Order: sequence, then structure tokens, then C-alpha cells
Amino acid sequence: MRVVLTDEPSTQSWQNAMKRSIRNSQELCEALSLNAEVLSACVDGEAQFPVFVPLEFLRRMRQGDPNDPLLLQVLPRAEESVVDSAFDSDPVGDSQVEKAPGLLHKYVGRVLLILSGVCGVHCRYCFRRHYPYSTAPKSVERWLPALEYIQNDPSIHEVILSGGDPLTIVDEHLSELVERLDAIPHLTRLRIHTRLPVVIPQRVDEHLCGWLERTRMSKWVVLHINHSQEIDVHLVDAISRLRRTGATVLNQAVLLRGINDTVEHLESLCERLVDCGVLPYYLHQLDRVAGATHFEVDRESGLAMVAELANRLPGYAVPKYVAEIAGQASKTSIQK
Ligand code: SF4
Repeated sequence: MRVVLTDEPSTQSWQNAMKRSIRNSQELCEALSLNAEVLSACVDGEAQFPVFVPLEFLRRMRQGDPNDPLLLQVLPRAEESVVDSAFDSDPVGDSQVEKAPGLLHKYVGRVLLILSGVCGVHCRYCFRRHYPYSTAPKSVERWLPALEYIQNDPSIHEVILSGGDPLTIVDEHLSELVERLDAIPHLTRLRIHTRLPVVIPQRVDEHLCGWLERTRMSKWVVLHINHSQEIDVHLVDAISRLRRTGATVLNQAVLLRGINDTVEHLESLCERLVDCGVLPYYLHQLDRVAGATHFEVDRESGLAMVAELANRLPGYAVPKYVAEIAGQASKTSIQK
């Protein structure tokens, strides 16, 4: 397939946008006019974790630039085969805290539901690139043990919908799930961790906004944007639609070598975020997942950048610099 890119807003439904997404490095390199050398370096990485890039995200990348910061997040690389014993397949200890199929109870007062193994984009640095998604429940009925677990533990006040990407589930099922959560009296907060509105902004449609608006719980949508170039007019519109439902919109970014590891890049990202009503919540130190060694930025550099951000930006625009350590009761702050 020869991909034709335009600047026009997509008239496709989000499901069609998923179907039309690029699924191999050859198409990706052809669409961006990248040479055979770039393509040949993709082979090993692609064999470990397939390529998946929506056209809506692709058109924010520069033509002919193998160092484009959006491309580097999705392009397989030979370095993914580097073996380092400090990088493994479950760096945050998910498998130790699964209490019911698809339900992780890691932190006090909140649980995480892995609703889907499907994502709207495949990020090469993803800490769940080796997660056994095939075992996660795929229908409302199969979520019942997780719902029962939540019902039976009044100390749980918050449910986090995660994945994969929870918004790859159709709205009919999400709406039903949220209705069932609404019926559990001790739940007060619903949080959604998603990158789908970033890569396919039309995912924030009237159906999604409908069930989000209807829930009695306070709602928090946590997006995942790593670079200001990801924020185009279509994403800005999608964020406005989310905010109109009454949701608070936050962002978490990952500090990535060669992508956003300068003060200028982080400053520009944080400013763009607050200008469209999104609070920069977390800047994550990379989770040490096998295949992602080449993305790591050392902590001293990260600390220096965050300290400089605090000099340049208002406090609310400076993200918390954190790491997730398996077995810890919360994210671990790296700030001094
Ligand atoms: S969208 Fe999130 S879960 Fe999916 S590959 Fe990217 S970082 Fe991982």
C-alpha cells in the first residue's frame, strides 16, 4: 500500500483509523521517504514487537528525517536486540500484583484494570511490550471477578482503566463497565490512562464523551505525550472535548534519549500542554524493559533538566520526575 498523507482532518471513524494504520516498517519508511539503510536497521526490532502507527500520528512527522522525534518513538531499531541484565520483561512487577484476571492491586486505595491488550500505537520503549495481554479479560462478563474484588474491598476508592489502551474497547462496553463501577458506592474516582486521543484524536467522539459525562465519579484522563510536535490542532480539539465532559486532563511523559532529553524540548512540551489545559503530571524515568536500553537517560541529567524547568516555568507546569520501582507503595520521586 502506498500511503498518501494530507493535512486534512480525518473524516474516518476511529475504528477505521485503526484499520488503516501502518503495520510494518517498510510502509513506514516509504510513507516518510526514508532510505533503505533506515529500513534495513528495523528488521530485528520489528521481529520482537510489531509496528503500529496511525496515519493521524504519521502526518505529524517530518518527511525524510530519520531523527524525527515522533518517528523515533515508533521505528524499530537494531539496538532493541541489545541484552542487558538490568532490563527485563516485567520491570514494574505487574505479574506479582494481579488479584483477579486483568486486575492489578498495587497501590493503597486504587486498582488498575487492564481492559485491552490493543494499543493505538506501538511505542518501542513501552514497559508492557512483553505483558501477556492474551490472558486479560475481553468482555464485560469476564470482568466480573475484577468487579467483585472491587465491590468486596471498601478501601478502594479509585479505578484506573489501563491497558494496552482502554479506549480501544468499544464505547458500548466501556459505558456498561462504567455503569457497573458507578453502582459500587465506595468508588469515587475514575481514571483513564490513554494515548489513543493523542494518536487518533477522533477517538474523543460523542459516544465516549457521553458515558464520561454521565458517570457520577470524578474523572481524570491521563494522556501520554512526549514531545510538543505531537500536539496539533486536532489533538487540541480532542482535549477541549474531553475537558467539556468535566474531566481533568493530565499528561505523563517518558524521558527518552534523542527525543525529549533537553531542557528546551521539555519546556516546550510543558508550555504547550498547559496552554491547552493539560497539567504536566509526571515525567517518568524509563522503565528498564528489555529492548529499550537505547532510550535511557541517566538520572543525574534528568534531575538537572527538571531543576532548570523549575527555574523557567510556573510550578503547576513542572512535572514530577518519578520512577516506578517494583514492590514500592507508590511512584518514587527522583526529585532532590
Ligand atoms: S500506547 Fe502506552 S501501552 Fe501502548 S505501546 Fe504505547 S506506551 Fe505502551
